[in-house]
Amino acid sequence: MNKSMPVWLDSKALPILDSRDVVIIDASLAGIAAALALARAGHNVAIVEPRTYPGREITATLNHWIRPPQGMALPALPELIRTCIEAGGTTTLNGEYPLHPDAVKRRLEDLLLAADVRMIYASLPVGLCFDGDSLAGVAIGNKSGRQVIACQILIDTSPSALVCRLAGASFSDEPQRLIPGRVTLEFDHVGSLDEDVLAVPSALGVVGNVLHVHRGYRGPLHVLVEAAVLLSYPVTDAFEMTRRDIEARRKAIDIAFYLVENIPAFEHAELATTSYESAGLLSNRLASPPPAWVEPLTSAAIGGVQAALSAFAGPVRGIWCLGDAARLDDTARLSLCDPIMAAQTGEAFGQAIADAWPMPASLTTLTMQPQRSCGQVHESYPRPAVREPNQPQRGRTYTWHTVPAMPVPLAYDGDVLVAGGGTSGAMAAIAAAREGISTCIVDMNPGLGGTGTYGGTHSYWFGRRTGFCAQSLAVVNDVHQRLHLPPAAGPIPTWNIEAKVYALTDATDRAGAKILLNALLIGALVEGTTVQGVVAATRFGPVALRGKITIDATGDGDIAAFAGARYVYGSRRDHAVMWYTLHQFARPGRTRNNFTSTVDVSNIEDYNRAILAGRRRGDLSHDHDH
Ligand SMILES: Cc1cc2nc3c(=O)[nH]c(=O)nc-3n(C[C@H](O)[C@H](O)[C@H](O)COP(=O)(O)OP(=O)(O)OC[C@H]3O[C@@H](n4cnc5c(N)ncnc54)[C@H](O)[C@@H]3O)c2cc1C
Repeated sequence: MNKSMPVWLDSKALPILDSRDVVIIDASLAGIAAALALARAGHNVAIVEPRTYPGREITATLNHWIRPPQGMALPALPELIRTCIEAGGTTTLNGEYPLHPDAVKRRLEDLLLAADVRMIYASLPVGLCFDGDSLAGVAIGNKSGRQVIACQILIDTSPSALVCRLAGASFSDEPQRLIPGRVTLEFDHVGSLDEDVLAVPSALGVVGNVLHVHRGYRGPLHVLVEAAVLLSYPVTDAFEMTRRDIEARRKAIDIAFYLVENIPAFEHAELATTSYESAGLLSNRLASPPPAWVEPLTSAAIGGVQAALSAFAGPVRGIWCLGDAARLDDTARLSLCDPIMAAQTGEAFGQAIADAWPMPASLTTLTMQPQRSCGQVHESYPRPAVREPNQPQRGRTYTWHTVPAMPVPLAYDGDVLVAGGGTSGAMAAIAAAREGISTCIVDMNPGLGGTGTYGGTHSYWFGRRTGFCAQSLAVVNDVHQRLHLPPAAGPIPTWNIEAKVYALTDATDRAGAKILLNALLIGALVEGTTVQGVVAATRFGPVALRGKITIDATGDGDIAAFAGARYVYGSRRDHAVMWYTLHQFARPGRTRNNFTSTVDVSNIEDYNRAILAGRRRGDLSHDHDH
C-alpha cells in the first residue's frame, strides 16, 4: 500500500446521538464556563470530551492549586473556580487554595448536570456535517464507531484546534521551536521544606533553573512541584504531540530522580504522579484576518482575555475557536492555560455568543432518516475497507444521517500495529521492536499501562508471576530503585503507577516502536479476511495506521469486533461480565477502585452512564484501597 494514498471511510448512515443548539469540544474550564452561560441563557448544550473527566486546566495538567490575584477574595473569583475550591475546603496555604482532583471532577459534572448540559466522554470529533454552507452537526468517534450530534454552533476549546482543522482552516506559518511550558509532579510524605522555590542544576533543563513548590490538600507533607520546561511548538499532528508528551514526562521523571536523590526533604518522599498533559501553547494561530461571516456579530470585548468576538471566529460560520488557535497574542493565548483566566474567558464568551448569535427556533437542518436498522455503506473506494461498529446501543431506535465518503491520511505503514497499550500491548510492542521489526502502538490514554496504570490497579493478588509479567515488573523496578521505592515483588507485587507508566512508555520508545497516545481506535482496516490495521480518532483528526500484523491488545477485543468477528458479550453461558470499577484517589497516588456493577464499553451511551455513576459511587464498595 502506498503511504501517500489515503484510506477511505465510506459514505455511511450514522446514528444521531443527540440534537443540540451548541456542542462544545473539550470539557475544559473555558468550555464548561461557556456551556453553563449558554445553558442558563436557554440553549441546549452538549460537551464532547476525549478524556473521561472534566476540567483539563486543573485536572489533566495537575494544577491542583488556585492562587487568586493579589487582593481578590474568594467570592470575587469565577463561579467555576469557587466551586472547585469549595469542593476541597476553603483554607489557604501560603496564599493558595489546594484542590482535590476527584472532588473537582465531581463538582464540575454536578454543575453541568444541574444545567442540563449533556456530557459525552471518551469521544473525539472526526468530521463535520453541513446543510449547504451552514454547519448542521459534528460526527464524533469512539469505541462505538462514529455517530452524529446535530448542532448549529460548535465551540472548540481543544488546544489542538481540532474542529478548525476538520473544517480545513489555515493556520499561521510559524517556525518549529522550543518554548516554555509547564509540568507538575505530586509527592506525598515530603519532609520539612523552608522554601517554596528550589534551585536546580541546569542539566535538568528547567527554565530559570528553579522549581516552584505548592502545598497539597493533605497539608505540609503533600506538595506539588511545578517546573517550566521547553516544549516543541507548534505541534501539527498526533505523533508530534505524543513525542512532546513523552519528552515532557521524561523531564518530569528526571526532576523526580533529582529531588529524591539530592534534596533531603524528598529522600523518603513518594512520587504520586506527574501531569497527564503538559500546559503550554500547542497549536499555532488561525490565519488572519477573521472571516467575513463574523462581521455582523458584535459584542463587548470578551472579559478575561479582553478580545473581540472576531478573534475566536473559525473558518466556517458557526464554528468558534476558544483555545490556542484564537487570534490572540501569545500572552493572551497562554493565559487560557490558567484556570481563573480560562473560567473568566469561557463565561464571558458564552454570554457573548448567547447575546450575539441569532439562534433560530428550529435548530437542526440535518437530513434524518428514521428507523434505519443499521448504518449502510453507499460507495466503495480503494481497499482496504474500513469496518466500523454500526450503532452504540443495539436494539435502540436511532434516526440516521448519511455522511459523505471521507479520505483519512495513512499516518503509519509498517510491520506490526499494536492496538491498545496496556501491559500486554506494551510488552508486545517492546518485544517486536527489540527484534528490529517496525512497530507502532496506539492507546487512548496519555501513557502506557492500561488497567495496570490509568485503570488504577497497582498490585496483583493472584496470577502469573513469570514470563512477560516478570519482564514488565523488572522495568518498573529499575524506576522504583531510582525513586527510593521498595521493589514490586513478593506474593502481592505492588507498583507505583507513575513509575509503571514511565517505565513502559520509556522502554517502548527506547526499543524503537512508534507510540501514538490520546488516540481512540474507531475502526479496523480489512482486506479480504485479514485485518491490516486500524483507524484512530486523534486530537488532530482521524488517521489510518497499517500493520502487516495487527495485535488487538485493547482488552475489549475492539479491533476484532470492528472487523466483524463474532462474539458474545460476557460469559458464553449467561452473558455475565466482570464488575466495572472507576478508580478514584483516596490519597495522592493511592487509588481506590469503586466497583459499580457493569458497563458495556462498546456502547458509548452506557460507557458514559458508567463514568458518571462510578464517580458518584460511595465509599462502601472497593477493595484495592491501600
Ligand atoms: C481491580 C482489579 C484488580 C486486578 N487484580 C489482578 C490480579 O491480582 N492479578 C492479575 O493477574 N490480574 C489482575 N487484574 C487484571 C489485570 O489487571 C488485567 O488482566 C491486565 O491489566 C490486562 O492487561 P491488558 O494489556 O490485556 O489490557 P488493558 O490493561 O485493559 O489494556 C488495554 C488498553 O487498550 C486501550 N484501549 C481499549 N480500547 C481502546 C480503543 N478503542 N482505542 C484506544 N485504546 C483502547 C486502553 O486504554 C488500555 O490502555 C485486576 C484488574 C482489576 C481491574
